Amino acid sequence: MNEHIFIGVAWPYANGPLHLGHVAGAYLPADIFARYHRLKGNNVLMVSGSDQHGAPITIRAEQESTTPQNIADKYHQQFIECWEKLGISFDLFTTTGTENHTQVTHDVFLTLLDKEYIYKEKTLQAYCPECQRFLPDRYLEGTCPYCGFTEARGDQCDDCGKPLNPSDLKNIRCRLCSATPQFKSSEHFFLRLSSFQDELTRWVKEQTHWRRNVLSTTWKFLDEGLRDRSITRDLDWGVFVPQPGFEHKRIYVWIEAVIGYLSASKEWAKLQGDDTSWQAFWENGAKGFYFIGKDNIFFHTIIWPAMLMGYGNLNLPYDVPGNEFLTIEGKKLSTSRNWAIWLYDYLERYDPDPLRYFLTANMPETGDSDFSWHEFLRRNNNELVATYGNLAHRVLTFAYRNFNRAVPDPGELDESSQSLLNEAKLTSGAVDKLLYRCEFKGAIKAAMSLAQEANRYLDEQAPWKTIKSEPGNSAKSVYTVLSVLTALKTIFYAFLPFSSEKLHYFLGFDGNVVEQGWTIQDLPPGQKIRQPQPLFVKLDEDIVADETSRIGSLKESKGI
Ligand SMILES: [Zn+2]
Ligand SMILES: [Zn+2]
Repeated sequence: MNEHIFIGVAWPYANGPLHLGHVAGAYLPADIFARYHRLKGNNVLMVSGSDQHGAPITIRAEQESTTPQNIADKYHQQFIECWEKLGISFDLFTTTGTENHTQVTHDVFLTLLDKEYIYKEKTLQAYCPECQRFLPDRYLEGTCPYCGFTEARGDQCDDCGKPLNPSDLKNIRCRLCSATPQFKSSEHFFLRLSSFQDELTRWVKEQTHWRRNVLSTTWKFLDEGLRDRSITRDLDWGVFVPQPGFEHKRIYVWIEAVIGYLSASKEWAKLQGDDTSWQAFWENGAKGFYFIGKDNIFFHTIIWPAMLMGYGNLNLPYDVPGNEFLTIEGKKLSTSRNWAIWLYDYLERYDPDPLRYFLTANMPETGDSDFSWHEFLRRNNNELVATYGNLAHRVLTFAYRNFNRAVPDPGELDESSQSLLNEAKLTSGAVDKLLYRCEFKGAIKAAMSLAQEANRYLDEQAPWKTIKSEPGNSAKSVYTVLSVLTALKTIFYAFLPFSSEKLHYFLGFDGNVVEQGWTIQDLPPGQKIRQPQPLFVKLDEDIVADETSRIGSLKESKGI
């Protein structure tokens, strides 16, 4: 039975380049999951897009004396180039700047307004007397009342992750000029979040398959009691509010960003030439997975489900595999302090698969994890090159030279060969189960263990020693390892798509890995092998010192 799998991935703010934390947190796990389900023959729709709106972009535009649109366009283009190079296989990567997105956002807004889940209220908003303007949350800075972090923003504390209201901040100041803001009356729309308390509580109780960190964060909000939240801002940049008197206000960026999952699905459907094809991913038995970092859990397990409940007739999230954070060389990643490794910069100098391998093997699934160049080099050289790449290259080259460029006929398989082939089947089954449950780290470990097993077998059999004296034995062991490689190119495909396609080609198969599906292919004796090349490149020890000193040296960040 084919399943419909919807995959929504956090919308990156188009106010600065992507870094490895973004990749490990959301984009890579989402892509692995999408590729896996495509291999399984399921229908996958994976969408996201640049978040063009919000104060981070207007602040950056003000700093650089340009327009928010220029900033957004620049980074949108860079994001697309990065996805292409890293192999992040979106079905659609759009932006929140489209006419379609505005329409869908207005439809959701007006439906919720009509059902009285949204209401108007006058509130006190921060106003800077120096800058003579209202200050949206991100323009405000102060001390977090929960953890004491002195650079908390008006909407959230980056240190403890709690969502905040500007009035919660102590020692509040304007981020543009440091003046102390006054509070003035301004009318805004509010989402009646409190009215979803019971329904959300019932629903979250049923989500026993969610990760523990996602559940505990969600329960913290529910246990504290949900408060209504303002969903418009005093800004001129963003999706306009479709109500008179709100011409200088915009819909809060987080509200329209989560609606983006729906608007992107509708845009994708239009591009398919079937305006209704999005429905199969949002109704009935379809499952929706949302890949995000842990700082976005609230918006995906509380806000977005509440909006969907209010809107009606669309699927709530099935799972929200929120990842923890990636640290860099043992230190907290920070765009404002320029402590990050930028994705575009990595991809200019290295291949995509080693990064995909490293970040999966160290994925921050249940706790924070660290990226260091030393560990990156070790995993690349000892695991990708020495274990997997070398296995493939040794055997393919040997068969190419000694068995007439073809898969040899193994004759009858002995016990150790049978047992290794059986191990390949078991690994395929185990990785299948782990990937289905979004346990990527465990899945890639199981895959690499099979490559290790195959290496041990190959060293024991040493077909290069028996090729003259016992060519039959030599053929049998070469055939067995080539069969394991046939399994490995499929098992590794979701993680390492570029090298899997190469291996598929060298082994003499036609088409591509996805067309073959998840099932391990038979490897017919006599199949012609194509001239093999190494799958991975060994890296020089020197890169560790060079790359470590490079961190923080690029002036490309200025993240807000
Ligand atoms: Zn805090
Ligand atoms: Zn100011």
